[in-house]
Amino acid sequence: MTDKPVRTRFAPSPTGYLHVGGIRTALFAWLVAKQAGGQFILRIEDTDRSRHVEESEQHIIDSLNWLGLKPHKGPVRQSERLEIYKEWAQKLVDSGRAYADVSSPEDLNRLRDSAKGAHKPFLFREHRPSETPPWEPGMPLRFKSEPKNYSWQDEVMGELHAGPESVDDFILIKSDSFPTYNFAHIIDDHLMGITHVIRSQEFLPSVPKFLNLYEALEIERPKLATLPYVLGPDGNKKLSKRDGAKDILDYKKEGYLPEALISFLATLGWNDGTEQEIYAIDELIKKFSLARVQRSGARFDDKRLEWVDGHFIREMPLDELYKLAEPFWPDQAKESDERFRKDVLGLVQERLKFLAELRDLTWFFFRDPTDEEILGQLAKAESVHLSTVIESLQQSDFSYDDIKDRLNDLLQSLNTKPAVLFSEIRGATTGAKISPELFSSLSVLGKDKVLARLQRASKLLGT
Ligand code: GLU
Repeated sequence: MTDKPVRTRFAPSPTGYLHVGGIRTALFAWLVAKQAGGQFILRIEDTDRSRHVEESEQHIIDSLNWLGLKPHKGPVRQSERLEIYKEWAQKLVDSGRAYADVSSPEDLNRLRDSAKGAHKPFLFREHRPSETPPWEPGMPLRFKSEPKNYSWQDEVMGELHAGPESVDDFILIKSDSFPTYNFAHIIDDHLMGITHVIRSQEFLPSVPKFLNLYEALEIERPKLATLPYVLGPDGNKKLSKRDGAKDILDYKKEGYLPEALISFLATLGWNDGTEQEIYAIDELIKKFSLARVQRSGARFDDKRLEWVDGHFIREMPLDELYKLAEPFWPDQAKESDERFRKDVLGLVQERLKFLAELRDLTWFFFRDPTDEEILGQLAKAESVHLSTVIESLQQSDFSYDDIKDRLNDLLQSLNTKPAVLFSEIRGATTGAKISPELFSSLSVLGKDKVLARLQRASKLLGT
């Protein structure tokens, strides 16, 4: 097994959008393949027709592409491989390891209820009929299990054990002729030469069943790696849509950088033995290992994601960031020139956590604040200094240093504090609650605008 070329797969069911948990599975599988110079395959597990969502496949592809997790092959769709599953099912029928299931849903419910009444786990194999009709299309086909103890090595969880009660007869092919996940993925992983099955914890209880099936099919099993759940912010239960498991493409819409998402996802349950939280993709390819994926759930924290994204934004050369920022400017920014926008971007680069914040952080560079906006910021301040500020700034060349010196001098001569004087100037010139560092903001806004806005605010306040 070890000398086979490494091949991993991401095998989502197209039932909706991809969120953090799903895409992290894809990333880990991609990293394992990439590190070994192997292949990463996208397989669409679309055999549950009742849960199928049409746009989902394209959505999955767009999400992978955005993050640069390009498959070497795929999408391979299970719905297009029904004949293959049928052939393999027939092999099991021929070897006496599968049988037509003629039980009705009512029969099943009755058996389940009586097991419950007896406080015993329900096992279908205990009720396996002694005689069954030949299997025909339209009939569900069930696996004939051979219960036993299992011990196996999981690449993440280590050595695992399960008793015979974990092995049961299960459906291979449904009455609609589609295979179950339990059957189809085993066949596909085998035929596609998958060396590492990397998937979420929710499949762990089924592994003994899968081991039994590998044996019945006489096929070698791939290495198995179980990824613990991504947990919600409280760290108690699996991350759900309710606690912020967003569509991955929403992060794109909000102007997160794909490289930041990658770094964040990689460290959601993996570390290299240090506290490092920021990784470039090349470093991840070198350092990632399944053996260092933690065995307990990883807590999703969107504040950490913002922090990681802010880091990548700060590190990015301004010209590059400028290109990415294009869709995120406030409407009026279109009317100003590139130089000015770059200056503004340079001012907020330090504090941007994601690019969609650009609008709220910069609108006042591109349009005058309204009276309400100005008064909204000045109402509480004792705005008594504006005329002195105007007098001083009229003399300024509006370089950063000159503005800084003058305003610091005013602190002295007016005998006041930055919290008072600077908030007053900020409110009067921006009308905004948050704005970048004051002296550089004034310098970028320019003398004409700053003086005009100060005068207007002063008039509004009647000072
Ligand atoms: N179709 C399964 C899912 O969407 C894939 C599990 C696996 O990777 O084997 O969760």
